[in-house]
Amino acid sequence: MRKLFLPGLIVVTAVLLIARLFYLQILDDSFKIKSDNNAIKIVYDYPERGYIYDRNGELLVANQPSYDIMVIPKDIKNLDTLEFCTILNITKEDFIKKIEKAKIYSPRLPSVFLPQLNKMEYAAFQEKIRKYEGFYIQKRSLRDYQVNVGANVFGYITQVNDAIIKKHPYYKSGDLIGMQGVEQTYEEILRGIKGVKYRQRDRFNKDIGPYKEGIYDTIAVQGKDITLTLDVELQKYGEALMKNKRGGIVAIEPRTGEILALVTAPSYDPAILVGRERSKNYTALYNDSISMPLFDRGLLAEYPPGSPFKILTALVGLQEGVIDEKTQFVCNHGFSYGRGSFMRCHCGGGVRDLHVGIYKSCNAYFGNVYKRTIDKFQKPRYGVNAWSGHLKSFGLGNFMGYDLPPGRKGHIPTSNYYDRWYPNGGWRSTTIISNSIGQGEVLMTPIQLANMMATVANEGYYYTPHIIKKIKGQPIDKKFRTKHITTIDKQYFKPIINGLFDVYNLGTAYGSRVEGIEICGKTGTAENFTKINGKRVQLQDHSVFVAFAPRINPKIAIAVLVENGHYGATWAAPITSLMIEKYIKKDTITRVDLERRMMEGSLQAEYDKVVNGFYFEPKDKKKDSKEKTEVTEKNKGDKKTGTQKEDKKDDSQKNNANIKVTATDNKQKPKNK
Ligand SMILES: [Zn+2]
Repeated sequence: MRKLFLPGLIVVTAVLLIARLFYLQILDDSFKIKSDNNAIKIVYDYPERGYIYDRNGELLVANQPSYDIMVIPKDIKNLDTLEFCTILNITKEDFIKKIEKAKIYSPRLPSVFLPQLNKMEYAAFQEKIRKYEGFYIQKRSLRDYQVNVGANVFGYITQVNDAIIKKHPYYKSGDLIGMQGVEQTYEEILRGIKGVKYRQRDRFNKDIGPYKEGIYDTIAVQGKDITLTLDVELQKYGEALMKNKRGGIVAIEPRTGEILALVTAPSYDPAILVGRERSKNYTALYNDSISMPLFDRGLLAEYPPGSPFKILTALVGLQEGVIDEKTQFVCNHGFSYGRGSFMRCHCGGGVRDLHVGIYKSCNAYFGNVYKRTIDKFQKPRYGVNAWSGHLKSFGLGNFMGYDLPPGRKGHIPTSNYYDRWYPNGGWRSTTIISNSIGQGEVLMTPIQLANMMATVANEGYYYTPHIIKKIKGQPIDKKFRTKHITTIDKQYFKPIINGLFDVYNLGTAYGSRVEGIEICGKTGTAENFTKINGKRVQLQDHSVFVAFAPRINPKIAIAVLVENGHYGATWAAPITSLMIEKYIKKDTITRVDLERRMMEGSLQAEYDKVVNGFYFEPKDKKKDSKEKTEVTEKNKGDKKTGTQKEDKKDDSQKNNANIKVTATDNKQKPKNK
């Protein structure tokens, strides 16, 4: 709707404040205007918010005009309340409530009486506005979404609350602010700076020109347009593939760290958080504590990564020199690691070297590598810290520093962690052997998994994943152009890449090959348990897949998580391969049957099992609904204080508490002790 706004035109807003100079001085001590007999009217110029484009220049987010009815309670005179309420289609009780609220904010300052009139309401009210002293119309612009995807990437716009106004005096009642996503991260860039004009009025309320030739006036600074790294076609495709499923997809360009797609499912149409229905719709999304549409799984879901983690076990083993490419271990359908402890393996058994170990995903092979790595050091404490240090060089166990509201650190245990569980050094490599196959105390988010694959694709370095590609007229943050080099030498990545390539040719992803594209990938299955009345109950496994492609000169690294999706090869691997095909071949998907199966496939029945109490005693159902009520109450408080970010955190913590992912073959797991 750019045509509604001439480009570069400052949206000059209508009347704002009529106040005596005395009040002006109270509002702003630095504003040294001496009182005289005239009144001053402050007019704000709200610049139009910057537009948002995708990496190929496609317009994603524009603006549309919106009209708020503002009120200055002190100025209300001779109001025909009945007529007024009829025009606006509100009850008298509503009216009183709104006026009281405005008075509490300030009797002399303007506040929003009724936000975001539609065109019809605006037209009806506009005709009569003169009659209603103390009320006026404030024109603003709201977001106008050109696509119905990417809600989690964009975030949304909302009215500032009292807490924000107190903390950031720039904002006045009724002003809009970006929350979540890029709207929050790039708020100041997108918003611009509003201008202020001081106009003089005589005692007949007639405008007699700028106050003091406008020496106190400021000019509005236009919001800047931004270009995201997102490929909106890929984003659309990912959201379509994840329909009727829960999970996340993160796709990164390895060469740059640019985020190509960030999908979370379920999601929602960003347009439902615009306009008068905003608040109602937001509350509904927030209160959906079962499918949690506001929980960005790509950034926030922490899981034991499972088999994809074996890539790191191998790299650390190679770097520490405890294995080389030719080192062999025998798999006896598992790995005996002393005192009757056994880690099972379904690879078929036999002699395993690095290459076969990777594409057959042999637990015994990686158990051995991990044991050797830790045991290389004089004490297990030193071993774990060395291992942990290597992992941290991949950006694991910490916030990644991307430009979206903060996600999760994941977890990379150090020796201190185990010392707490086993005081006086009562632990060794075999105690923590499940770490070798990504099922111990290690936790990773999908974006960390995708970044790990980008690092492997680059043979040892990565750029911090980011969503900003260009800001009009200004460079993007230098930190996104800084290369992070891991502690693993470049030479050790080649054999790993060859193994990952054969996952497609000979291994678990054989069924997800794409003609003409060489893909390197790894399947994963994260077992999924929840505790009911102290009893461990197993839910369907999560399906995980990580990959990059093409093998030579990689263009995309990707992680796909499908909650309760069973084997990696069932959902996550096909979805990964379709995403890769879509991105590399653009519009030609060759495997239309597979595409249809993924798009139409639903895991709702699996999710309903839990909701319907299939796994739960009636008592727990009660407990569950009580928890939901608590969230609702918290939500109310949240609106006052504007801490959506914190509440989101609470939400996900709740999720983690409800559905906890743990490993089966980890009999000596410290957490259980
Ligand atoms: Zn095996």
